[in-house]
Amino acid sequence: MICSKCKERAVFLEPKLCKKHFISYFEKKVSDTIKRFKLVDKKDKIVVACSGGKDSTTILYLLKKFHGKVTALAIDEGISGYRDQTLVDLKKFCKKENVELKVYSFKDEFGRTLDSMLKQRDHPCSVCGTFRRYLLNKYAKSFDKIATGHNMDDEAQAVLMNIAKGNTNLLWRSMPITPKKKGFVQRIKPLYFCSEKEVAAYALLKGFNVGFTECPYIDESFRNQVRNGLNEEESRNPGTKRNILEKHLELLKAVKLEAKGFQYCEKCGEPSQGKICKVCILSKSFK
Ligand code: SF4
Repeated sequence: MICSKCKERAVFLEPKLCKKHFISYFEKKVSDTIKRFKLVDKKDKIVVACSGGKDSTTILYLLKKFHGKVTALAIDEGISGYRDQTLVDLKKFCKKENVELKVYSFKDEFGRTLDSMLKQRDHPCSVCGTFRRYLLNKYAKSFDKIATGHNMDDEAQAVLMNIAKGNTNLLWRSMPITPKKKGFVQRIKPLYFCSEKEVAAYALLKGFNVGFTECPYIDESFRNQVRNGLNEEESRNPGTKRNILEKHLELLKAVKLEAKGFQYCEKCGEPSQGKICKVCILSKSFK
């Protein structure tokens, strides 16, 4: 198979591109998303939410390349045999790239690892996501924006999951840049239109030292079911994931859907959908 731009061997099939042309195609796609949605301002202080996986490592690398100084912020949920390894990879990457890394853990903040919290509760991803979002927001407050490695697959899944569960009040989260809201650090997602396959190929071709293992709890998640269904649909009808996101953005614009109904937790002061936030409610149930 030959590259559609030169006579080199293609290393990626859709589009058919050699290593050099795939890397420039991918970087241009990310840079176009940043420009289209005005994700980054020159003066912005940016922190990147990192896990040591391919997506966040890729966006950490590219934002440093495009923007200059960035800081990495990682949350150690306490997932034995998984997060400990990805954090080793992340520390090595940050050292090599000369990026400051800050790590906070569930154990230090809430007195428990995710593994031990789950002995008392089901739904690992819901517990994990609630605590992780809280810590990321809390420790990103001295920055203008927090960049995450969410790719097109993640975002299309999130849109479908929120619709399926009737959580239309959360659809605003699946945007390339979240609205400004008191108490929230704005989130940006420069990989919004890059498929999971494209990000994996970029990380491999760039030689990033990242593992491709998945969290042991992923099989239990609703996201995993949606992911499998969406992948099947994408192979039958290529372009499905991109269409979901483009239509989602059109709809959000049309209905001017925003982060509405937020209050501030009476206990910790963080943004909340009720008088007491989910983090305070969940933490209490573990005591
Ligand atoms: Fe957390 Fe679920 Fe992701 Fe594992 S798969 S890191 S439990 S959100």
